This record gives sequence, structure tokens and C-alpha cells, in this order.
Amino acid sequence: MPIDPKLPYDDNNIFAKILRGELPCQKVYEDEHALAFNDIRPQAPIHVLVIPKAAYVSWDDFTAKASDAEIAGFMRAVGNVTRQLELDGPGYRLMVNMGGAGHQEVPHLHVHIFGGRQFFQMIAD
Ligand code: 5GP
Repeated sequence: MPIDPKLPYDDNNIFAKILRGELPCQKVYEDEHALAFNDIRPQAPIHVLVIPKAAYVSWDDFTAKASDAEIAGFMRAVGNVTRQLELDGPGYRLMVNMGGAGHQEVPHLHVHIFGGRQFFQMIAD
């Protein structure tokens, strides 16, 4: 079920629990701004989620409320993860689902990194 992105941040969402160490993850990368881990249901040979360490519901919430330092740190972290995974040569796809129409299911901002295969020109659904 997609989330309602206008609801307040839910401290009990699954990624908040992963950040607190209450649920396990296959960690790929961590710095002061972000944590990256393998998606539990990968849709490509490489499918990694990058999440900010601070509590933001969505891309909308993050880009409206995060500080410039948080936004820069998070963007840099996404780039660091793709380079660590050696995807900067072959290329990769990034995706952020936002709210109901975007079919966002977890109410903590996450960027999907897809790699390890050739993607089609565009994903519309
Ligand atoms: P969304 O549809 O919100 O953009 O994507 C949520 C993603 O989180 C999905 O790709 C889903 O497979 C992944 N996911 C959901 N629960 C867990 C979990 O407990 N652990 C991990 N690693 N990924 C999860």
C-alpha cells in the first residue's frame, strides 16, 4: 500500500528500525548523512537503497525541510555508493518513489540504485 506523504514521520517505520539497529540489513555503505543497504526484494542484479540518517518521510519532505548540508551530504553519499559499487563505468539507474501516485511504500525517504544490467529507455510503471 502506498503511504500518505502528508502524515507526520512514523518512528516505527521499517527503515527507522534499521537505522536504530532493531532490524538487520545487508549494509553496503554508511557515513554521517546516509546508510545504504541491499533491497530485500531486488529488482536488478544490484538493487541498493540509500536513506538519510535523519527523519524525513519523503523526497518532498526532505527537499522542503532538510538543511543545505544534509541535502549535499545525502546527494554525495548516493554518488559515493554508486562509485563504491563500481557502477560509475557501466552506468546505473536512480529512482525515488514519492507518495501515493509514486507508489512509495516505506515512509522514510529512500533512493533506489539499480545496476548490473541494461535498462530500458524509461520506466513509467
Ligand atoms: P518504495 O516502493 O517505497 O519506493 O520501495 C520500498 C523498498 O523497500 C522496496 O523495494 C522493498 O523491497 C524494500 N523493503 C521493504 N522492506 C524492507 C526491509 O525490511 N529491508 C530491506 N532491505 N528492504 C525492504
